[in-house]
Parts: sequence; structure tokens; C-alpha cells
Amino acid sequence: MATRIDCEVIVIGGGMVGATLTAALARSGMEVALIDRAPPPPAFDAEHYGLRVSALNRASEYLLDNLGIWSELLARRVSPFRRMEVWDALSDGYICFDSADIGEPHLGHIVENDLLTRVLHSHLAHITTVTLRYHSEPVRFHVHAGIAALELADGELIRGGMLVGADGARSWVRQAAGIRERAASYAQCAIVAEVRSEQPHRQTARQRFLGTGPLAFLPLANGNCSIVWSCDEPLAEELPGLDPAVFAQRLGEAFGWRLGAVAPAGPVRAFPLARAHAESYVADRCVLVGDAAHTVHPLAGQGVNLGLADAAALAQVVAEARGTGRDPGSPRVLRSYERWRKGENLLMLGALDGMQKLFARREPWLCWLRGAGLRITDHNPLLKRQLASRAMGLSGDLPTLARPASRPAA
Ligand SMILES: Cc1cc2nc3c(=O)[nH]c(=O)nc-3n(C[C@H](O)[C@H](O)[C@H](O)COP(=O)(O)OP(=O)(O)OC[C@H]3O[C@@H](n4cnc5c(N)ncnc54)[C@H](O)[C@@H]3O)c2cc1C
Repeated sequence: MATRIDCEVIVIGGGMVGATLTAALARSGMEVALIDRAPPPPAFDAEHYGLRVSALNRASEYLLDNLGIWSELLARRVSPFRRMEVWDALSDGYICFDSADIGEPHLGHIVENDLLTRVLHSHLAHITTVTLRYHSEPVRFHVHAGIAALELADGELIRGGMLVGADGARSWVRQAAGIRERAASYAQCAIVAEVRSEQPHRQTARQRFLGTGPLAFLPLANGNCSIVWSCDEPLAEELPGLDPAVFAQRLGEAFGWRLGAVAPAGPVRAFPLARAHAESYVADRCVLVGDAAHTVHPLAGQGVNLGLADAAALAQVVAEARGTGRDPGSPRVLRSYERWRKGENLLMLGALDGMQKLFARREPWLCWLRGAGLRITDHNPLLKRQLASRAMGLSGDLPTLARPASRPAA
């Protein structure tokens, strides 16, 4: 006979965003069922770095700290970056952000996606109000009499006050709820690999804008760097199959030998890049967070940071509604989350799209102009501080959980 779970919130997708949201909801005592079609995250591998890493900003760090996750990550392996250098291959444009200039200990941390997910799931496994289901997929969703009902492929039924889609860019929930999205391919892939470099990274994240797309070197705790090399599809198809020595030569040239000679320290993989934004974040008893709601170009390392801010905001509006006796899954409450996050996300989506387009242009006058723009900004401490503050997630309308524990909500 099919089993049945009754809970307050059903979350589909236990990636970094869905697992963080579940932890944030459980922190307010809510009963949550988290469903993922993948197996439990892999065990921590102390020898090898995971291929996929994310640059987490300060707001994400505060959020994870407030959830009791950050100390677990620190105890294993994260890498702070204190400086960020960005320069343009087609002009003399250069800008550098230094945490010391803005009175912060660091600008952010490079964290392995698998490690963060692992730590989150280990944390959730100890919370009695959380039900975890792996290897599990939804097949049907409907709403009846104010109840969100979900049927899983194995026949299990789950009922809750709302369904959250945290199931990534190809969200099943988004489709099941009939929410449309505006999407476009960049006709680019990101080449991702761990690389050794001749010169030390000095805890600096670096990005060079090439005519074919940005190439980032993110500093890792083992002294290597994780690269994210966004390039047009024909080049992206070629690079992963190259002999390691040839790849190293091409990579070194593309990076202007900024860290001397480089060599891959593991596999080289390509990930397709697209931009997308859901037309609505909300449907009847249903709400989207993270990549299910928006996908951005990785050029500023903002994707998961936006998703974690969604998670913190949704957990806050839901907990506030519940605490004051209102129905947390009502359209009014879910719309307040949408109003809060959609504006913030749109701003970032527009800025990243604009940057991607601007740096893809090769007309000499435009190259000169953006070079001049970067240099002028580099010499304007006030403007730099504002830009850094936005990228670090320290400005804008921040959820309480994404602020330092000692700093109360405005
Ligand atoms: C090359 C690259 C580099 C990036 N670097 C950065 C960076 O430095 N900083 C940054 O902030 N962002 C970065 N991003 C973006 C970031 O990786 C994404 O924004 C983030 O992974 C989205 O997390 P998510 O939890 O929303 O979705 P996902 O990571 O896609 O997780 C979705 C989860 O849902 C599960 N799932 C999916 N469908 C179903 C289903 N039907 N049923 C059950 N479960 C399902 C999946 O198994 C998965 O666990 C980068 C992206 C790329 C491509």
C-alpha cells in the first residue's frame, strides 16, 4: 500500500538552494519533506577537490553561519579570497577589489558544491521535523482544498501547505505548475577544471575578459585554482578533448600567463550556459527558488548566491506568516516573497547580461571605452565600495538570516 507523508512544506530538489531552504524552514520548527532524484551527496574526499566550486559571497556565508553550517565547512575545506582582479584582453582596462580597502577580512569564499550539499544533508538528517527522500521523483502534482498533493514515482503520496521548486534550471515543478520562463542560450559553455600554476594565487580571484568570453581563476585551499573558462561552443567542444600539455598551453595563453605556466590537475569538463527567468515565481500553493526561477551567466559568480538569498527570503516570509497565525502557503504570502526577490534578481540578471554583451564586443572604440570605464572605476573608491558591497551581497534588501547574527534587521 502507498505510504503517505503529511508536512507543511514539500521541497523538490536538495541541491545547495533546496537543502539550505529546508534547513532554514526547519529552524523555525516547520515540518518539511525534501525530495531529490539523486542519491545522498558523496562523502567528503579529503584528498581531492570536487570539480564544481562556487564563489560564495558574504551574505551566503552569514546565512550558512546562522544555520550552523558554516563552521562545518570551515572545519573541512574552504578557501577565502581577499582580492579580485579583473582585466580586459582587448584594452588596458583593469580593476582590483581588495577586502582591506573596504574594511572586510575577505570578499568571499570558494566552496565545493558537493561539500556544501553534503554538509547541509548531514545537518538535515539530524532534524526530526525533516523527511528526506533520495532516488525519488515526482510524477503528479495537484492542489485541492488548499492542500498541495504530490505523487512520487514509487507511489508515495505527500501532502503539504505548499510545494517549492528548488529543482534547478530544468525544473519539473515549474513545468507542472504551468509557469513559463524567458530563456536564451549564450551559445557558450563553461570549461571547468582544477589547475596548478607556477606562481601562487595569493588568495586572489582573477578574471580576464577575452573576446570569446571571460576566463576566471578561483583560488583553492590546496594552492591550485579552479578555472571557469566561458567560451563559444566550437572552442568548448575542442578544449576538453585536447592533450593535457596542449590544453595547458592554450589556457596559459588565454590567461596572458598571469600566474606563469599552468597545467590541469584533473578532468576538464564543459557545462552549457544559458540565461533564463521564470515569468512568475508563484502559482497556486507553489513557489520557485534558485535556478528553477533564474539562471545567470557565471561571469560574476552570482547564481547560487541569488538562490541562497531566495531561500532565506522565502523562509522568512513563511515563518513570519506562520508565527502570526496566517496561512504560509496563501497567495498573499507567496506573492510577498516574489515581490521581494524578483526585483533584486532582475537587477542582477540585467547587469550580468549587460556585462556579458559589453565584453563580447570587439569594435576598437568600444574596447577603448570599456577600458577607460574600468580604469576610471578602479580609481574611484566610493564607486568601487558600492560595487563590491553589491557583489558581496551586503547591500539591497537582505533577509534577516543573510545578515551577521549580531546585526538586527533594518
Ligand atoms: C560553470 C559554472 C560555474 C558557476 N559558478 C558559480 C559561482 O562561482 N558562484 C555562484 O553563486 N554560482 C555559480 N554558478 C551557478 C550555480 O552553480 C547555480 O546557480 C546553482 O548550482 C543552482 O543551485 P540550485 O540548488 O538552485 O539548483 P541545482 O544545483 O541544479 O540543484 C537542483 C537539485 O534538484 C534535483 N532535481 C532536479 N530535478 C528533479 C526532479 N524532477 N525530482 C527530484 N529532484 C530533482 C537535482 O538532483 C539537484 O539536486 C555556476 C554555474 C556554472 C554552470
